[in-house]
Amino acid sequence: MRVVLLGTGGYHPSEERHTACIMLPEAGLVLDAGTGAFRIPQHLATRELDVFLSHAHLDHVVGLTYLLAPLALKQLDAVRVHATDVVLKALREHLFSAPLFPVMPAFDLRPLTGSSVELAGLRVRWQVLAGHPGSSMAYRIESTAGPAKSLAYVTDTVADGTYREFVRDADVLIHECYFPDALEEWAVKTGHSTTSKVLELARAANVGRLVLVHVDPRSSGPDPLGLAGVQQVFTRVEVARDGLEIDF
Ligand SMILES: [Zn+2]
Ligand SMILES: [Zn+2]
Repeated sequence: MRVVLLGTGGYHPSEERHTACIMLPEAGLVLDAGTGAFRIPQHLATRELDVFLSHAHLDHVVGLTYLLAPLALKQLDAVRVHATDVVLKALREHLFSAPLFPVMPAFDLRPLTGSSVELAGLRVRWQVLAGHPGSSMAYRIESTAGPAKSLAYVTDTVADGTYREFVRDADVLIHECYFPDALEEWAVKTGHSTTSKVLELARAANVGRLVLVHVDPRSSGPDPLGLAGVQQVFTRVEVARDGLEIDF
């Protein structure tokens, strides 16, 4: 399973990070479509894409508008957008309302039904997350052909442990961490996670590797989440940068 992190920041782009977008090129699978989605064409390895959205906040969906060009230029034959009914309705009525964006790309909008969907060689499962305004959706991708591998993606939520079993034993957990511990008060107010809580969740869920994303764009430098200053309850952790590739 090869994963490329195209956007690893939250809220708005910064000099270091674009907003949420993760791609599995060989699977033609994309998780969220923030501003990092402008990088999708240079990583395409398939003619079709399945895009799964966590929620409709702009830092996770604005990049859907960037897929108009690769569809028009025949770099892509089809784009299926998977999300809840509420999210798809918001896209149709707002993001793709004519005054904002004049053309509705030829997307196949697919409401999430049940709890999983099978793609070629993969199963994608989902679970609703609480704690963030309007809620968000966590995804877990598991290989159904070849060696058993699993990737979990959890963003825009508080690391409260309610979804511990959903991410349990994932080889890789990509989890949001917007704030360092010192800004816990703001994390509670905005429905985001802090460093120590995510580390504790990763330890309790026995994940193989933790990759932190959705970093506060006002933070920069080598340790924006204060990893050096927290109790090391889980050490297989890194703060993602745009362009990071994970092959596992
Ligand atoms: Zn966000
Ligand atoms: Zn959000």
